[in-house]
Amino acid sequence: MVQTKRWSITETNYQQAIDEAAALLKSGSAVAFPTETVYGLGADATSEEAVAKIFQAKGRPADNPLIAHVATKEQLAKLVTNIPPFVDKLIDAFSPGPLTYVLPTNDLCATNVTAGLSTIGVRMPVHPVAQSLLKQCDIPIAAPSANTSGKPSPTTADHVWQDLHGKIAGLLDGGPTGVGVESTVIDCTGEIPIVLRPGGVSREQLEEVIGEVMVDPALVGAEGRPKAPGMKYKHYAPEVPLWLVEGSAEKLKEVLAKERDNYHRIGVMASNETAAHVEADQVISLGSKQSEIAAHLYDALRTFKEGDIDLILCEVFPETGIGEAIMNRLRKAASEYVAE
Ligand code: AMP
Ligand code: MG
Repeated sequence: MVQTKRWSITETNYQQAIDEAAALLKSGSAVAFPTETVYGLGADATSEEAVAKIFQAKGRPADNPLIAHVATKEQLAKLVTNIPPFVDKLIDAFSPGPLTYVLPTNDLCATNVTAGLSTIGVRMPVHPVAQSLLKQCDIPIAAPSANTSGKPSPTTADHVWQDLHGKIAGLLDGGPTGVGVESTVIDCTGEIPIVLRPGGVSREQLEEVIGEVMVDPALVGAEGRPKAPGMKYKHYAPEVPLWLVEGSAEKLKEVLAKERDNYHRIGVMASNETAAHVEADQVISLGSKQSEIAAHLYDALRTFKEGDIDLILCEVFPETGIGEAIMNRLRKAASEYVAE
């Protein structure tokens, strides 16, 4: 057990909190901080020993590489051997922001950041607290989401506290994050960029700036359809089984009625419009707009508790814009997909 220092950031203690958190990071400790996507668990990316603390606190598998976070393009350039012209364009359009570039590493970062790969994922977060912290540290900070491995990512400081207090040196509480799903990860090592993970920047937005982008074949199965549940790692999993239900309110009601005898208490998560038509033991309205649904997704997954609810049903959302990231996470979190 370590004592976890928690700073609730206000205008008056802002600089002091940043200074203290940066000092802990520079001395090799692991500290959680807000970004615009989700909370990250940071450590000095150049130190194998510091980065090991992230894996230990999260229980994360060692073969899953981490993203290095920096404040500026100059700092990004120090971690990679080459920045192709299309990456310059992407940086101008989307950084700082929720986009991670996979580029050839120059091995400045520790091997447990890259999982021994010849590439490194680098991102410049735009959240003011993350920016201040990274500028103050002036070292690259490796930071996966600040949750216990396998659980939904944290979008509030309380989520981080639930999972990691007593396991990390510090937690900067900057309030709820904005985007709510992780960054888009784009492989920039080939001629045509490949989206490895959909996220805060949509495929449509990327294509507007650089033209064609490809999507990792691992994300789509046969016939170009997104892959169903059952990936390499358990990811984003709520405490209670989650089923995705295609076909909006009518189909949700049908499945609810059918499963009543098998599952004692059923929870539903859906858009405001759909939720208004459904009665269940616990109903969470995620919002109307896609951006609201993304922002509330992980909090909803964490709200359904074992003992209160036996099955969660969730609406299937359209896969345009950030909807691609929403459905990617939901598929990984779900155990069943009920087609229309
Ligand atoms: P998380 O830290 O939980 O946000 O996950 C980081 C994501 O970035 C994972 O999906 C990693 O597989 C991916 N990633 C990080 N570095 C690389 C890399 N060098 N090559 C490919 N994917 C990467
Ligand atoms: Mg994660």
